[in-house]
Amino acid sequence: MISHISVDRSLFEFTVTKDKFDIPELKEDVIVKASAYQTGEDYAFSGSIKTKLELECDRCCVKFDHDIDKEFEVIYTSEDNVDRDDHIMYLSPQEVEIDLKPYVQDTILLNIPFKKICSENCKGLCAGCGVNLNKGTCNCSKDKIDPRWESLKELKKSLESAEE
Ligand SMILES: [Zn+2]
Ligand SMILES: [Zn+2]
Repeated sequence: MISHISVDRSLFEFTVTKDKFDIPELKEDVIVKASAYQTGEDYAFSGSIKTKLELECDRCCVKFDHDIDKEFEVIYTSEDNVDRDDHIMYLSPQEVEIDLKPYVQDTILLNIPFKKICSENCKGLCAGCGVNLNKGTCNCSKDKIDPRWESLKELKKSLESAEE
């Protein structure tokens, strides 16, 4: 298909404001740079998608920036008998304009990391007191009190006061 690329080639760049997408993590507008080719009835685009997301760290719950800078290649075709994949989109023959936005949105969503970690060295939150261990230390490890012993102590105390 690529070999049929015609000489009608154009380069373009556009910015889509972040509110046009259904992605709450978007922090900045999305810049799409692409070159377009027409090959018979098909249109091929290749270029890059750039933006910034704000994610929340799974370990320490602090927000951090995550850059997206993704190369892409997509073909819009009106043929129905082609193998569909992520890089082939259907274009109805009545369509007069190609809207890249759904493809751009999918590409961004696919590039949100599954594990959101602010840094490989993130120490996370203390399970005992909730202190962010990247920012400070706490006394939990030094002075460990098992909460089960705490409740036993309470029970003992109430039994003692009941005896009195
Ligand atoms: Zn973190
Ligand atoms: Zn602690």
